Amino acid sequence: MSDASPRLDSIEPLDLAGIGVGPFNLSLAAQLDSTPELTTRFYDRRERFDWHPGMMLPNVELQSSYLKDLVTSTNPTSPWSFVSYLVETKRFFAFLNAHYDAAPRREFARYFGWVAERLPTLSFGSEVEEVTHDGRDFTVTVNGRKQRARNVAIGVGTAPYAPDWAKGFDRETCFHACESVERLPGLTSGRVAVIGGGQSGGEVVEHLLSGDTPPDSLLWLSRRHNIEPLNDTPFSNQVFSPEYVEAYRRLGEDRKATALASSVLTSDGVSPSTIDAIYRRLYAMRYLEDSPVEAEMLPQRDVIQVERRGAEYQLVVRNGFDGAIEMYSADAIVLATGYRFELPSAFESLRSRIKVDRNGRVTPGDDYSLQWDGPRQNRIYALNAGRHSHGIAESQLSLMAWRSAAIVNSLLGRDHFDLTTPQPMVNWGASGDGLVDVRTAGSNA
Ligand SMILES: Cc1cc2nc3c(=O)[nH]c(=O)nc-3n(C[C@H](O)[C@H](O)[C@H](O)COP(=O)(O)OP(=O)(O)OC[C@H]3O[C@@H](n4cnc5c(N)ncnc54)[C@H](O)[C@@H]3O)c2cc1C
Repeated sequence: MSDASPRLDSIEPLDLAGIGVGPFNLSLAAQLDSTPELTTRFYDRRERFDWHPGMMLPNVELQSSYLKDLVTSTNPTSPWSFVSYLVETKRFFAFLNAHYDAAPRREFARYFGWVAERLPTLSFGSEVEEVTHDGRDFTVTVNGRKQRARNVAIGVGTAPYAPDWAKGFDRETCFHACESVERLPGLTSGRVAVIGGGQSGGEVVEHLLSGDTPPDSLLWLSRRHNIEPLNDTPFSNQVFSPEYVEAYRRLGEDRKATALASSVLTSDGVSPSTIDAIYRRLYAMRYLEDSPVEAEMLPQRDVIQVERRGAEYQLVVRNGFDGAIEMYSADAIVLATGYRFELPSAFESLRSRIKVDRNGRVTPGDDYSLQWDGPRQNRIYALNAGRHSHGIAESQLSLMAWRSAAIVNSLLGRDHFDLTTPQPMVNWGASGDGLVDVRTAGSNA
């Protein structure tokens, strides 16, 4: 630092420093735009906003309503809503007339980018290298420069997850689906195995089957009972409501795990439009185009071991349907095996001070701040870190505006946003005290 630079402790700290600008911290920044009394800055290492660019295949669609945007559920008059974007960019009527069942993901990415270009509190090309705490404030090191902050918000997303058997193989032929845009064009021949039966797996399969130069053969392996659709029905969708999160929060750890597992298809199932497209493609290949069907749909398959033999991979697979052990060969493997939250390496010096549960996971509280042994007034908010603690909605766009509003209220210490929850459409229970309500108990007696 040059002599002319002011001393770090002479600069007024930010009220909040945000690490990462994906949709979730972007939503927080958009909600904070209505509170000019708070000084904030959000940093992202990318040169500009980009939403999962590696999975932005042609024709991919949003899995949630476009009204579940950065702000609308708590701040419908914000200038940063999707509807504002449609109006400002002169496509409001055209968008409505397109009658999308699900909006194109590219359109939502453009909306996010439009907001990111306009919010004054965002810095791109800014890698957060280290976050420390000096007993009074956080010090956030960004591109080698230090900035003090009273609170920090981790919005770095989730890291691509690869099973242990996939580690050590070369990235050209065994890669995570998050690299699809870059690597799928190289798979124009040979045998490809796609592992993972969620939406990303479905999009990769659809893309490979629909292209002009499909591979010679394709295997789609999933542990699930079948190619399972996204459950987008009204009662199931209640898990994406603040009322559900409130009830879920009151459960013990084991009941949370059960509830989370039973709602997984509301988030991680395959969109019906993707399923239809794949099925119709298989039909066309078999009955209309007389091309030999080289695509195999393989549900209830658990890949237990993979070996490289020369140029090919040999997969050892357990078939959960009939118990058989099966062998498959492939020249390339696409891992559509999901994502997991990891505390960013920038937090290395604070890691041992942050409380984790018995499974080693951080534990965001009601206001999404982590439990740690530092001063209570210095909070570490973590977004997209608590699917286990807040339920299935935590990793989805659905409640991001609500979560951001809760964080703003927590920062201000008052209810800037009205977050009183409506009467639930489903009575989940979870009263918290384990007592039976005597007004209703015994009505079936
Ligand atoms: C392919 C795909 C499609 C999805 N589609 C939907 C959907 O339709 N509907 C839905 O509800 N949910 C969807 N999701 C789930 C969820 O909405 C997205 O994953 C969403 O992008 C999560 O946002 P995020 O801000 O947590 O993380 P990310 O979008 O991953 O953004 C994190 C950002 O942090 C930055 N960063 C990381 N570390 C640092 C650092 N040290 N310094 C500076 N910057 C850093 C990265 O550059 C990145 O820009 C989808 C997920 C995927 C993978």
